[in-house]
Amino acid sequence: MTASPRRPTLYRCRFLLPITAPPIEDGAMLVEADRVNLVGTYNELAAAHPEAVVVDFGESILLPPMVNAHTHLELSHFADWAAAAKPKTLQAPKTPQAPDVSQKFVDWILWLVRVRRNIGEVELQASLADGLRKSLSAGTGAVGDIFTTLSAVNAYQSSPLRGRIFAEVLGQDPSVVGDRLAAIGALCLHPPGADLNWGLSPHAPYTLSPATMNQVFAFADLKSLQCSIHLAESKAETDFMQNGTGMIADKLFAAARWKLSANAAPGCSPVSALCRQGRLRPGDLAVHGVQVDAADIEQLKQTGCSVVLCPRSNATLDVGKAPVATYLNAGVPLALGTDSLASSSSLSVWDEMAFAMDWFAGEAEPCDWLEMATLGGAKALGIHDRMGQLATGYEASFQVVTLADMPVVDELEETLCTSGRDVEVTHLYLGGCQA
Ligand SMILES: [Zn+2]
Repeated sequence: MTASPRRPTLYRCRFLLPITAPPIEDGAMLVEADRVNLVGTYNELAAAHPEAVVVDFGESILLPPMVNAHTHLELSHFADWAAAAKPKTLQAPKTPQAPDVSQKFVDWILWLVRVRRNIGEVELQASLADGLRKSLSAGTGAVGDIFTTLSAVNAYQSSPLRGRIFAEVLGQDPSVVGDRLAAIGALCLHPPGADLNWGLSPHAPYTLSPATMNQVFAFADLKSLQCSIHLAESKAETDFMQNGTGMIADKLFAAARWKLSANAAPGCSPVSALCRQGRLRPGDLAVHGVQVDAADIEQLKQTGCSVVLCPRSNATLDVGKAPVATYLNAGVPLALGTDSLASSSSLSVWDEMAFAMDWFAGEAEPCDWLEMATLGGAKALGIHDRMGQLATGYEASFQVVTLADMPVVDELEETLCTSGRDVEVTHLYLGGCQA
C-alpha cells in the first residue's frame, strides 16, 4: 500500500457516485486523516478548501470499492488444477439429462472434491494469495471469503482487504467436527489480517447432521462469530431436506461414506429448517437463496440476515434463479458474491453485476445492483459503519474506474452496471492508502 497523504486532499473526477446519493458531475471528495470530510462538486469544495492538495483523476468515475460478499479465494487456481488432473480418475460434470437438473449440482461438488484432494498446501496458499491480488485489481475492497485450509492463514496477513474470513466446517461425525472447531478456536485468537475479522461457515444444511449443526452454531454463539451458510442453492438440497432423498442422499452421502441418520431430513425447506431452529441471526449470511418460496422469503426477512446472490455460479450449475424482485419488495438485504473460480469465470464483482443485470432483466434497477455490489456487501459483512458509501465520516476507501465511452450523468448507473469487463479499475484506495 502507498502511504496516504497527510495534507487535506481533494480527489476530483468526472463523476462521483456516493451510492447513498445521486451521482455528482465534476465531483470531488475532501479527505483528511484518511477519512471523508466532504463530498460535493469540485468547484464548491475547491473554493471552500484552497489549502487542499488536488488529485485530479480526469475522465473517471469515483465510487466505493466493490464488496465480494461470498467467494472462495483459495480455489483461484482451480482451472489449472482441473486441467492437470488425470482424466482417468476425473470427469468434469456432464450436462444432465432433462429434467433432473439436480444431478449437475451434486456431480460438480464431487468433481470439486476430487480435484481439490490432489492439491498440496503450498499450491493452495499460492492460489489464495493470487485470489487476494485479483480481488484488489478488480476494485474489490472487502471480501467474505470461505476458508478451509487453516494452515494457509498467513496468506491473509499482508492483504489490505477488509471483510471477514469464514472458516468452513462440515461433516457428520461430532468428534471430527469438534476437533475442527477446536482448531478454528485457536486460530480465532488473532485476526486473520490487519483489517479482517473471523467468521464461521457451516457449509450447508445437507453436509452437517442435526447434531453437528448444533455443535457449529453453539460454537458461533460462544465465540460471537458471524456465520455464512450456503442455503437453498439447489433443488437437490430441497429434495434432501424435505424427504431425505435424491442425488445428495444417493451420491454425495455414498461418496463421502456418510450414514444417513433417521432425523437427517427435517421435512421442510432448507430455509424453514434453519429458521425454525433459530439458527440464522441478524448479521448472518444466507448464500444463494435460489430455491425459496414466499414463506421462506418472509422468514429470511424476519431473521435480519443478508442474502448473498451469486448469479453466475447459479447459472453455471443450473440451479435456478433467485427471486430478486421478490426479495427487494420484501426488504431482504441483498449482496453480491462471485463464488469461486470453480463455478464462475472471474473474481470481479463488476462482471457479476453485468451478468446479473442481463440475467435478471428488469427485476432490479441499476441503482439496486450498484448498492448490492457496494453498501449491501458492506452491510452483509458488518463493515457498513466504515465503508460502502462515500459520505462524511466514512473511511477514505474508494475505487476509480474509466469507461471507453463516458455516458451522460442520467445514464451513468445503467452504463456502469452493464459494462462488466469494459470497466477499467485504475485506482483502489483503502483507508486513505492506495492498495
Ligand atoms: Zn460458495
